[in-house]
Amino acid sequence: MTGQNKLIKGIAAAPGIAIGRVFVKKEAETLVEKKAVADINGELDRLNHALAQAEQELTALKETTAEKMGEKNAEIFQAHLMFLSDPEFIAGIEQQISEEKINAEFAVQQMVEHYVRLFAQLTSAYMRGREADIKDVGARIISILQNKKKIARKPAQKGIIWARNLTPSDTTQLDSTQVLGIISGEGSMTSHSSIIARSLGIPAVVGIGTDLIIDDLEGSNVIIDGNKGLVFLNPVQQLIKDYRQKLAELKEQQSRLKQFINKKAVTRDGERVEVAGNIGTAAEVELILNNGGEGIGLFRTEFLYMNREELPTEDEQFVVYSEVARKMGKQKVIIRTLDIGGDKQLAYLEQLEEMNPFLGYRAIRMSLDQPKIFKSQLKAILRANQYGNIKLMYPMISSVEEIKEANRVLQACRTELEVEGKEFERNLEVGIMIETPAAAVIADALAQEVDFFSIGTNDLIQYTIAVDRSNEKIANLHQAYHPAVLRLIKRTIEQAHQQGIWVGMCGEASADQLILPFLLGAGLDEFSMNAGSILRIKAELTKWTREEAKKITEQTLKLKNTAQIKEYLQKISKK
Ligand code: PEP
Ligand code: MG
Repeated sequence: MTGQNKLIKGIAAAPGIAIGRVFVKKEAETLVEKKAVADINGELDRLNHALAQAEQELTALKETTAEKMGEKNAEIFQAHLMFLSDPEFIAGIEQQISEEKINAEFAVQQMVEHYVRLFAQLTSAYMRGREADIKDVGARIISILQNKKKIARKPAQKGIIWARNLTPSDTTQLDSTQVLGIISGEGSMTSHSSIIARSLGIPAVVGIGTDLIIDDLEGSNVIIDGNKGLVFLNPVQQLIKDYRQKLAELKEQQSRLKQFINKKAVTRDGERVEVAGNIGTAAEVELILNNGGEGIGLFRTEFLYMNREELPTEDEQFVVYSEVARKMGKQKVIIRTLDIGGDKQLAYLEQLEEMNPFLGYRAIRMSLDQPKIFKSQLKAILRANQYGNIKLMYPMISSVEEIKEANRVLQACRTELEVEGKEFERNLEVGIMIETPAAAVIADALAQEVDFFSIGTNDLIQYTIAVDRSNEKIANLHQAYHPAVLRLIKRTIEQAHQQGIWVGMCGEASADQLILPFLLGAGLDEFSMNAGSILRIKAELTKWTREEAKKITEQTLKLKNTAQIKEYLQKISKK
């Protein structure tokens, strides 16, 4: 079962590499036994003391988490505290103790299971998140009742936590000096634990499935590749050696790159180029700032709409957008409007089955079709812009009409806010993503309508080469080095500059140092990427001058196939 060098694929939840021994996180609830009690009042007292202590612990945890990781991450514990003050939850436990004359631990467990069953009937991802919360609260109360140490068992020495599921409170209490990495059977990119792992800088692979009997794995050797979402169980010596080498290089590179944190991104001849960060939640802002990001080049707002039961209100969005704007101060924050559809669906919105979801009811198309949803987002953005330097960006644009229509809705939002007497910032720069070949081809026309472009290579490659970005079988075809993609990028930048607007790139290619001289030579003004790549790209930029890069761009465009281009870019890359 624990065979040599077993490769398990999961979700790359937090970047980095970890090599070490497995430390299995035991499930607390399996340890509870049912016992008959005679002294009912004594048992109710015990329960009340445990509830009071749990409240104290959670309040303290909420405060330290807010200090360490910001208010947003601390909200998880507010949800836990709410269970403790839920009269139905408490009365249900008390009733079982009194009527069934059973121990408090067992009554708590029964009540938690009752809630889990209730939540399970509601199939949304948000409710599954609530299930993890109630289990977490239950485990806390039970461990207090059992007089156990509440803190998640830590590895005696440095190790890799392997859990069926890691609760948010488990994750926030992890000691990042002892925990080298996290593997979790459940979880997704946007689950709270993954977000916290990224904030703590602990490599994590989640969602690997729950088929493995992990109790048997205690002490096994394991490698985590948090960049690729891979777990190697009992790896062979050569693989350990290779990964040790990669890890050493990563560490050496990280310490070398630290010098760029407070430096502005410039080319070798001192020309200013902006290097910004991509985020999906407000909590990631810190990560971007700590890694020297010079603004937010892409805020993917869809995560705000996920893991919940219903649409976020205008006010809820306003709180999040203004928090990000405030944290970034004068630095820009490009908020992209909702990009739902394709591989990102919302369980609570009725959506038709589509033959080709990536070619279907997606992004701006949906926003224009459902102006109520679109307007609540636009109004929140207009209001939040009083507190910082926000720019608006529409996704998946393929025509001039879409921009005009979206801007009409934006104008209507300004009027509505005035009528409602809500304060907002009238001026708001508007840009679009260039992610369809149509947009790249008519870049000259589109540039007359907006203030900036940001090239989304993830989709631009998908639509140009007709290669589904989420299909593993054809992943090798999803290449930025394809000459058609490069020509479209070059054309987009050229046309934009002719119309006097700037161009950024927020697709994954912006963090690819092989393609960087091509992009620089093509005239790209801004690179926006995940936090972990910012310093590397800032450093890479200092190796090139724009003139030198221009020649490389010209040369690259003469080449006719992907392999040749990649080979050429490898040859000219600077170590
Ligand atoms: C892109 O398509 O390159 C992009 C940045 O958007 P997303 O990955 O969110 O589709
Ligand atoms: Mg996209």
